[in-house]
Amino acid sequence: MKAPHHRRLVLLGGGHAHIEVLRQAARRRFEGGEIYVISPTAHSHYTGMIPGFVRGFYPESALAIDVDWLARAAGGTFLEGCAVTVAADGRSITLDNGDVLECDLVSADVGSEPSGMRDVPGAADHAFTARPINRSRALVRAIEHAIARAHERGVSEDAVAIVGGGGGAVEIAFAIRARAAAAGVSLPLTLIEAKPDLLPEFESAMGRTAGDVFRNRSIDVLTNAKATSVSADTVQLADGRSVASTITVWLGGAAPVALTRNSDLPKDAHHFWAVDSSLRSIGGAPVWGAGDCVALRDFPWVPKAGVYAVREGPVLAENLRAALASDTHRVAVTYQPQQSYLSILDTADGSAIMRWKGRVFRGRAALWLKSYIDMRFVDRYRQG
Ligand SMILES: Cc1cc2nc3c(=O)[nH]c(=O)nc-3n(C[C@H](O)[C@H](O)[C@H](O)COP(=O)(O)OP(=O)(O)OC[C@H]3O[C@@H](n4cnc5c(N)ncnc54)[C@H](O)[C@@H]3O)c2cc1C
Repeated sequence: MKAPHHRRLVLLGGGHAHIEVLRQAARRRFEGGEIYVISPTAHSHYTGMIPGFVRGFYPESALAIDVDWLARAAGGTFLEGCAVTVAADGRSITLDNGDVLECDLVSADVGSEPSGMRDVPGAADHAFTARPINRSRALVRAIEHAIARAHERGVSEDAVAIVGGGGGAVEIAFAIRARAAAAGVSLPLTLIEAKPDLLPEFESAMGRTAGDVFRNRSIDVLTNAKATSVSADTVQLADGRSVASTITVWLGGAAPVALTRNSDLPKDAHHFWAVDSSLRSIGGAPVWGAGDCVALRDFPWVPKAGVYAVREGPVLAENLRAALASDTHRVAVTYQPQQSYLSILDTADGSAIMRWKGRVFRGRAALWLKSYIDMRFVDRYRQG
């Protein structure tokens, strides 16, 4: 039995917004209840640095955030596990081991998965991806095997295809090219994008600049190219073409994870949880959410990008603090997403492409700024 007015807040996932909620609670404890954090792994990994990890520039520890430690610093409890559903009334959570956890308030920051990977025949069986970190590790192992084989035979018999032409996919393509080149191996590499342009989420100048770098590195780019099936050595396209690929990396868009899809809460057309600008579920259940797993009802244009999840963190923290402390779940602050944000893509050659307020620039300073921002972000969630 819980004491009256002693509520249980359960945070699902250790994503960008929840680590900020925990940091805020560590600085000034949340009153009125206890905090539980449930995530499949005790460490989360900052995705902005995953391309650097794939390239071999960062060790895994450089991008790891200890969510277990953060939960304890916040006076809470970390539970290793994976949530399968949240009840429609927000009062219970079912875990993948069958346990049911009762709660008073729930917040989800469980991210997304690459869209199409579940549905396109062969993708789930044959393709690699970048998240969570164990998938990046598997990708790195496959590239290292390909490099070792090329050294043994004097020529590369492997080929890489990246499915997706967004920021993460572009950086991973450059990272793989750089890792192989540093080992003296030329791995054929093709990037496959379904839309007419590279980097469709940005202005065209960004795509053109990235396109120039791809040409300089002899990376083939296929646009208007929709992957329809994947096998161990081929990616089949909708227009009948096929791309030779022994290492396929699936990085197409963002689709909801099983928890988001399977919970009976109000959703948008793409099955992400619909939240209002206080980041609370629009159905009125005591359920909040942030990051890729939610759709902002009032700002449907917000992209699935880590920068938005980061900015939602402080808003979510204040609203959860207020909700835990009172029966009325009053809204402390509302979220107003920024229209534009600084984007920096590492081209894995000591420089980066930067976009700020519609202007695109490429150079070493851009990479310096990206490294500084990334490391400062991770440091904020470290002990000491
Ligand atoms: C290679 C790559 C590079 C990228 N680079 C950038 C970039 O530079 N800038 C940018 O803005 N965006 C970038 N993105 C997009 C960015 O990664 C996502 O938008 C961002 O990670 C979303 O953050 P989140 O907080 O929603 O979730 P995440 O950071 O993905 O965290 C989700 C957490 O929830 C946990 N979880 C998942 N399912 C469950 C469950 N059922 N129960 C409990 N816990 C669960 C996961 O283990 C994880 O800890 C990149 C994406 C990729 C693939």
